[in-house]
Amino acid sequence: MTTIEKLTILTDAAKYDVACTSSGIDRGGKKGKLGSAVKMGICHSFASDGRCISLLKVLMTNACIYDCQYCINRRSNDTPRATFTPRELADLTIGFYRRNYIEGLFLSSAVVKNPDYTCELLIQTLRLLREEYGFRGYIHVKAIPGADNRLLTLLGMLADRMSVNIELPSERSLKLLAPDKSKRSILQPMGLIAGKIQETRYDLIRYRSTPKFAPAGQSTQMIIGATPDTDWNILRLTEGLYRKYGLRRVFYSAYMPVSENALLPPKGTKPPLLREHRLYQADWLLRFYGFTADELLDGQHPNFHPLVDPKCGWAVNHMEQFPVEINTAPYEMLLRVPGIGVRSAQRIRAARRCRSLDFDGLKKIGVVLKRAQYFITCSGKMREGLRFTPESVLRALISEEKQKLAAQDVPEQLSFFTPSPTTEPQAPVAFPELAQKEA
Ligand code: SF4
Repeated sequence: MTTIEKLTILTDAAKYDVACTSSGIDRGGKKGKLGSAVKMGICHSFASDGRCISLLKVLMTNACIYDCQYCINRRSNDTPRATFTPRELADLTIGFYRRNYIEGLFLSSAVVKNPDYTCELLIQTLRLLREEYGFRGYIHVKAIPGADNRLLTLLGMLADRMSVNIELPSERSLKLLAPDKSKRSILQPMGLIAGKIQETRYDLIRYRSTPKFAPAGQSTQMIIGATPDTDWNILRLTEGLYRKYGLRRVFYSAYMPVSENALLPPKGTKPPLLREHRLYQADWLLRFYGFTADELLDGQHPNFHPLVDPKCGWAVNHMEQFPVEINTAPYEMLLRVPGIGVRSAQRIRAARRCRSLDFDGLKKIGVVLKRAQYFITCSGKMREGLRFTPESVLRALISEEKQKLAAQDVPEQLSFFTPSPTTEPQAPVAFPELAQKEA
């Protein structure tokens, strides 16, 4: 099999992995070395559904010994198989880098032979890149659950970011659909990585030359929509992962049916992209807005309203906490007002030290008054002429959302070879930048 045939198979097989942000690494070029990683800038290009685009996203192999029912690479699936040698993959990465096609590598793998053997293949590839080619670009590598701790530690010394896919939101779903995996086999390497990252942090305080272990942290990916798990289950798990393992990100991947199985949605079912989007919004609320999973959802409302973003949904259900007075409300409460993001809340806090804010001032600061107006007062007054009930607020928020949704194209999973309408067929795909909008 030629390298290009392997590349075609293994980049296509990797398109279901979404955990690939390159945030947090700033490493300049060095004489005699190749490449650099930039903390901000081109490495931070995202598709509208959150996928990073500037890395070569590829599998080491898709010849898997496991049989996870939701996965295209499962043992029982009749699909073309390929495995790179470490040399082939390292050469390809450097070739693409030199042509300016990519800025780094996102390397995942199915489990070939056994977890240790697979992990060794990954280590060899990364060693060639780092030590032989002197490659200083960004590398995100997937840890292989079940591999020896020493191998995982070696892998983490060569990569910038590591991730272990949690795959499904509950152990019950895991048992049903991925019987070769267990919650323990996934959480154990996650704990190891978290511990090593922490250890390196302490050592760096004492010795500046301490080798860094996965300096961009660890992340994970969860498939949603393949099992009956609710948004509440998913968000509670997410919250626990952030707290216990200090994850940088949890990525949600809308399930795309790849097989006919009575336990899974039938082929042809559309991936729940809107649900994925709502979970990303809620995840943002957990990390930056001080919300907890149990505040956003509960047993009576275990799933997000598909047409209202989670923050608006929470506010409409908690009208007793509003309106808040912009000139005196605590910062934490400002963050909970729909239409006020972190930056706007900070600007309000700074501006009101010097003067009293009115609605025009808020608009200038960047507050989205269309949403915020129902939930705030300025110097004790609501916006002039505003009359509403909780139901009419919900209607107003929904119609705004609906218009946005109607104007959006539904994003699709792209492979490395998917032709872009604006480029030559073999060129890397161009995505629109994700505008990280304030919630
Ligand atoms: S171990 Fe990974 S690649 Fe193999 S079948 Fe399961 S999800 Fe797919």
